Amino acid sequence: MAALKKLIAGNWKMNMLASAGVGLARDIGANAQDLTCELLVCPPATILRPVAETLADTAVAAGGQDCHEAESGAFTGDVSAAMVGDAGASHVILGHSERRHGLGETDARVRAKTLAAHAAGLIAIVCIGETEAERDAGQTLDVLSTQLAGSLPDTGVTGANTVVAYEPVWAIGTGRTPTLEEVEAAHGHIRTTLEAALGAEAGAIRLLYGGSMKPENAETLLAVANVDGGLIGGASLDAESFLAIAAAAAS
Ligand code: PEP
Repeated sequence: MAALKKLIAGNWKMNMLASAGVGLARDIGANAQDLTCELLVCPPATILRPVAETLADTAVAAGGQDCHEAESGAFTGDVSAAMVGDAGASHVILGHSERRHGLGETDARVRAKTLAAHAAGLIAIVCIGETEAERDAGQTLDVLSTQLAGSLPDTGVTGANTVVAYEPVWAIGTGRTPTLEEVEAAHGHIRTTLEAALGAEAGAIRLLYGGSMKPENAETLLAVANVDGGLIGGASLDAESFLAIAAAAAS
């Protein structure tokens, strides 16, 4: 199968009020036209619509950071997958470690959300990754297998509706990254696991690396086998840094 076009996705987390977020989106959108990778920014839900509208005529897509698994109902503070799509998103991040570990989100919950995202026509970016204790105990690949098996639906997963992001928990926001060999081993394992479950379709699923990716390390991380893009937190809050990572993906 031909190499997948790389996807560089920015996770803005709980940052940016409307004017700053729209300004950042404008700066990214205005400078993204010559890039050969796909670009996505995931702002907070409160500014998803103005950010998506700002990016409407650019090469940059907008995504949500989470959605509830139910279609509607008494879920104070939550947003459904359809609401995320209605606000202008094409993608939604699911199972980010800050939700798994900070809010107790389980694999089963991530799977239910993934199903809801697919039903709403969204591309689910399903995040998995080991903690530092799990890595130290030599459990990384087992953890990834378990999270994949539990978080992805049994049916309907394709390269058109699902992206998997490998994000070692200990690398997120810390400035630390795995070695290139460790990234290659994790991504190779994810691809093999997906192949066992999905056959040839596994080759169409983008695998993103996330965890302290910066302009300085992006080119080497993005050149690792089976790394089809990046999920970027801190460095996505600055247009220059985010675009430099995108340029590294395109190089
Ligand atoms: C993330 O939150 O998904 C992430 C990768 O953050 P950072 O790039 O800041 O490590």
